[in-house]
Amino acid sequence: MAIILDGVVVSHMITSSIKNQVAKMERKPGLAVVLVGDDPASHIYVNAKEEACHEVGIYSRKIILPATTSEMSLLDDIKRLNADAAIDGILVQLPLPDHIDEATVLAAVDPRKDVDCLHPDNIAKYRTQTEKIDLESSLLPCTPKGIIKLIESTGYEIEGKKAVVVGRSFLIGKPTAFLLENRGAVVTVCHSQTANLKEEVLTGDIAIAAVGKKDLITADMIKLGAFVVDVGTNRIGDQVYGDVDFEKVSEVAGYITPVPGGVGPMTIAMLLENTLLLAEQSHP
Ligand code: NAP
Repeated sequence: MAIILDGVVVSHMITSSIKNQVAKMERKPGLAVVLVGDDPASHIYVNAKEEACHEVGIYSRKIILPATTSEMSLLDDIKRLNADAAIDGILVQLPLPDHIDEATVLAAVDPRKDVDCLHPDNIAKYRTQTEKIDLESSLLPCTPKGIIKLIESTGYEIEGKKAVVVGRSFLIGKPTAFLLENRGAVVTVCHSQTANLKEEVLTGDIAIAAVGKKDLITADMIKLGAFVVDVGTNRIGDQVYGDVDFEKVSEVAGYITPVPGGVGPMTIAMLLENTLLLAEQSHP
């Protein structure tokens, strides 16, 4: 039976430390979250982020814009936040409505306030690192950083392992694969055109599912004792499910992260950690 990794407990240890650090700061770090549209799941995430800021003493500002907001108007808001001295981190909640170009918007965020590390300059900065990246002092995308921290919180050694990442988005799959490789894993990335997903995933000592399809990853795809990280968030009614068939895969895996309560809380903890990091960098 797999060890179930409690992301709530691990993230709480991180946020407690952030709270202590923030309490000692004369100037409180500030995070702005920008949400365009009325996607219910996005509203849940943004509210959770606001609440998490409140808990650790980070100043938070929520900017909710209608789905009809033009790209130009959104860019104006971002320009204002870039110039706002109270704001250290800017998070644009994705996805954006179809009429807005995500790449243009993400590139408009000041790289010094780019709290989810999605600005092209910041992506280039970490992706060109050849040394093992220090998670504490480097700006890295929140969810991938949280995944690595969650794995390493168990003492599990990534170096030398075979890792399979299912999903290749610029937000989750690609940066997670990069960080695993940076820590010495041999990494395979699978996607919607992967012909033999089962065979590929079966080779993984570490299997990361970041797709958004309930029960895509079944027990017969998992190597005995593998470390399984479920990033998937699939909302069906009031319930949230991952991409992994949790019950059956738990019987095969060595470690498994639940949904909810696995990667999700780590993402929020990393958002707070990155806000603090940016505040320290801009006000040394
Ligand atoms: P995304 O941009 O939609 O990417 C999904 C990826 O899955 C794509 O690379 C796609 O391949 C691949 N894919 C689709 N069907 C597949 C299949 N049948 N077999 C193998 N690969 C397949 O999604 P995302 O933004 O990366 O998010 C992934 C999941 O993580 C979602 O459920 C999202 O809600 C969740 N998420 C969770 C957190 C958290 O904190 N827990 C944070 C962010 C996102 P192609 O590239 O070929 O299309």
